[in-house]
Amino acid sequence: MRKPIIIIGAGLAGLAAAYKLKEKAEVFEASDAVGGVARTYKCKGFSYDLGPHVLYFRNERIRRWVERILGSKWEKQVRRARIAINGERVDYPIQEGFLQSEKLTRRFLDDLLKAPQTRKGNFKEMAANLYGSALAEDFFMPYNDKLWCHPLDEMDKEWAQRFLPSFPRDDLKRLAKGETLPRGPNAYFFYPEKSGIGTLSQALWEELSNRIHLSTKVTSINTEEGWVETNSGTRHHYSYLISTIPLPEILRASVDLPESDRNRAKELRSVGMVFVHLSLAHPLSDDSHWVYFSDPEICFHRISIPRNYSDGMTPPDRGSIVAEVSFPSDKNPDIQTIVEKVKMDTVKSGMVGGLEDIISHDAQVLRHAYVFPTMKGEKAREELRWILKHRDILLAGRYGVWEYANMERALEQGIKAAEALC
Ligand SMILES: Cc1cc2nc3c(=O)[nH]c(=O)nc-3n(C[C@H](O)[C@H](O)[C@H](O)COP(=O)(O)OP(=O)(O)OC[C@H]3O[C@@H](n4cnc5c(N)ncnc54)[C@H](O)[C@@H]3O)c2cc1C
Repeated sequence: MRKPIIIIGAGLAGLAAAYKLKEKAEVFEASDAVGGVARTYKCKGFSYDLGPHVLYFRNERIRRWVERILGSKWEKQVRRARIAINGERVDYPIQEGFLQSEKLTRRFLDDLLKAPQTRKGNFKEMAANLYGSALAEDFFMPYNDKLWCHPLDEMDKEWAQRFLPSFPRDDLKRLAKGETLPRGPNAYFFYPEKSGIGTLSQALWEELSNRIHLSTKVTSINTEEGWVETNSGTRHHYSYLISTIPLPEILRASVDLPESDRNRAKELRSVGMVFVHLSLAHPLSDDSHWVYFSDPEICFHRISIPRNYSDGMTPPDRGSIVAEVSFPSDKNPDIQTIVEKVKMDTVKSGMVGGLEDIISHDAQVLRHAYVFPTMKGEKAREELRWILKHRDILLAGRYGVWEYANMERALEQGIKAAEALC
């Protein structure tokens, strides 16, 4: 019998690869459901995603592919992203939004107009050079400190460039005069009409379920002999392997890789995240999809409001929010303490009226949420990708390839890996 192509992981990358490979592939998924990070969780009548999870398209081919899968079950929405800063609430991005507040305009505008706009130095210096020191100190530094849980001065220049976007001074002058700028492509997004982002992986699951093995964790791999072993102790031989699981995990599982290659997992850094879902006694009047928080006294860096994406996420007479709290991925987060702090801080920040409004909570942990795009990590990633490819293992997806990829890119990588084997 011909050996199958084995796909590890049924997140969007693994599902896209399986969809393309049809009966040639078998998928092993550790958890009890498909979707990975882009899954929708259900809890006592409430549904929630892991933070904002909305679809943006740059690639027409992927957009058409998703359209085919989802049919008419999705809609285009105008993004309502906000920033809570210095007691004010303004639209995202901050370098435009602050003009909506007189207090913030007084604090940031002159400083920003005088900023040299050069990309020199470490993260802190670069932020001050681009946006002026007031905006760097009040937003870019504390927000990124919270998100990355890592000294920003140690982040390399490449990394800083990616997270500190340029903003033409002429645009700022036009905005300050009251003109409006054309909306960029990310001002809109696509989202399922009736439920969460997990609708997409569920639609793929319906087509592929006979070839997806849930609760089946790949525990070890022998790249020389071409087999994987799963948590039940069963061995499965493959012709090729597509891995969408975090790159450090595939290295750890590959028992016959030289120690020097497996040790390179240490060069791949990431930040983990706890997602705290709070169900509320009443709907919120806030119409934001998500709100960023830079205040270092508030433990979360972002809150999202599920009902504002789709009515079906929350019972009609209730409300809910999801808070994101980062942690270093080599540590274990204390979930109970984080949940309690999130509850207090949602009240302190004014998102929730009082603790008595919170009727229940749920928490999900993601050990690798954002990978650190450092030069060292990227070099390791490229070399490892080459080594694994020569052992018939293709990498796909945000954590498989170990890059800052969105859902569209994860789908594209899954499809491309499958096409490479077709
Ligand atoms: C907080 C947050 C917000 C985001 N927001 C957006 C957004 O708004 N828009 C956007 O486009 N993208 C967003 N993304 C990115 C998006 O979630 C990812 O690009 C995409 O979901 C990655 O899919 P994947 O298949 O590559 O990985 P995953 O979803 O991680 O899938 C990997 C799968 O492998 C399984 N697995 C792991 N180990 C094993 C094992 N040993 N054996 C078997 N199975 C295993 C996991 O359970 C998982 O199901 C966001 C990401 C995060 C963290």
